[in-house]
Amino acid sequence: MSEVHQNSPSKSHVHSAKIRTADVVVVGGGIVGKACALGLAQLGLQTIEIAPDLGQSAPGPQGPQWGQRIYAFSPSTQKLLAHLQIWDALDHSRLQAVRDMRIYGDRGEKNDQLHLSAFEAGTPQLAWIGESDLIEHTLDQASRFQNKLERISDTLEKMDIDIDGVTLHLKNAGSIRTQLVVAADGANSPIRSMLGINASEESYSQSAVVANWLCTYPHLETAFQWFLPGGDIVAMLPLPNKQVSMVWSTSPEHAAKLLQFDRSAWQEQFTSIAHGAITKQLGELTLNSVPAAFPLRKIRAKRFIGPEGAPKVALIGDAAHVMHPLAGQGLNLGLRDVVVLLNILGKRESFRSPSDLVLLRRYERQRQGDTSALLWVTDKLKKLFSATSGTERQLRNWGLGLVNKSHFIKQRLIERALGEIDFE
Ligand SMILES: Cc1cc2nc3c(=O)[nH]c(=O)nc-3n(C[C@H](O)[C@H](O)[C@H](O)COP(=O)(O)OP(=O)(O)OC[C@H]3O[C@@H](n4cnc5c(N)ncnc54)[C@H](O)[C@@H]3O)c2cc1C
Repeated sequence: MSEVHQNSPSKSHVHSAKIRTADVVVVGGGIVGKACALGLAQLGLQTIEIAPDLGQSAPGPQGPQWGQRIYAFSPSTQKLLAHLQIWDALDHSRLQAVRDMRIYGDRGEKNDQLHLSAFEAGTPQLAWIGESDLIEHTLDQASRFQNKLERISDTLEKMDIDIDGVTLHLKNAGSIRTQLVVAADGANSPIRSMLGINASEESYSQSAVVANWLCTYPHLETAFQWFLPGGDIVAMLPLPNKQVSMVWSTSPEHAAKLLQFDRSAWQEQFTSIAHGAITKQLGELTLNSVPAAFPLRKIRAKRFIGPEGAPKVALIGDAAHVMHPLAGQGLNLGLRDVVVLLNILGKRESFRSPSDLVLLRRYERQRQGDTSALLWVTDKLKKLFSATSGTERQLRNWGLGLVNKSHFIKQRLIERALGEIDFE
């Protein structure tokens, strides 16, 4: 069982001769953990990354079938990956630029739509769509050549925290002593639980069914999203080679049915929902991946750093916050945590250790605003479009059309979606 102990320094030093040391330990091998570990090592910090799946590098995706996990990457993510020297190393033939976003209300009326355009916003693209494996593979390659970074394929079981640092006990590979632990250990973060950090958690009673489709009409580099009556949301994100990646948020019961659908059942769904707009827009759709479903929930940790008695931990990514995928922002938000942490640690005064409370508080302060705003907007949008009363239905559809007419509001929305954040 996972647990954390707070020791006096003398007690933990009894074991210090036997254990490895590092300036920072990153726990977690998702994109957020991998990007953070690489960035910390590039800052010159001796870094160890721990996750059960770090044994071999993620295979580089290839061939005509795209991976199951497809993400929208915001320009802030692109900037971080460029900073880490990853962006140029990616196979760009597997990335698709999004130049337009079209979001439709659930009445099927022509004016119930919001159109965001890269040209109108004066930016080359609104986002990129690509496979998780593409990014992970390239991060793995870069990490192999980073001599300040050691990766250990193992599971964290227990932590002892004292005033000088943290001792992490792994399932197989012994213990590690460090100054700072970065928890990138996902939505069910064991570290969050070990530290007793409360998190508000709400299930959306929805699952997202994801699948990739070949389409007969060009997608025109456009990300489409249809809100359907009853709260379902269908997003079709453009991929290279006339493909789209679907994210269909629906009840768990309907999700289970969708996973069993054959070709004609899918065809029937696409022609009947959204007043037939999906097939009108994309033509005939042919399944090009194995569909999968993910339960959807909202989580927000009450603190993004360790509690008063044990503040030597920073929470990043899904360990700190999880949101509905309707805005395609969860990973992007987690990678903005990484940017802020790297900025703060990179600029720290020489007399401060990486776990100095001033630095950790600075990190928490800077991340709370961005996180709260995005979680709030995503949650409210989700709930507004699930509401069944006539007034709310009218309001949301009317709202889409109204926002569409306001260049000012659209510009602000795009700025939020781009997630502007810079390295200092
Ligand atoms: C359907 C769907 C679509 C989405 N689409 C988008 C999108 O378009 N754009 C976007 O920005 N976001 C999107 N998201 C959100 C995105 O998937 C997550 O925000 C992101 O994957 C979180 O990454 P992470 O690295 O924080 O966590 P994870 O990827 O969950 O990684 C957690 C890591 O911690 C490790 N770990 C756990 N416990 C331990 C332990 N005890 N010891 C060691 N290691 C441990 C795990 O093995 C794993 O490696 C979507 C989410 C869903 C469900």
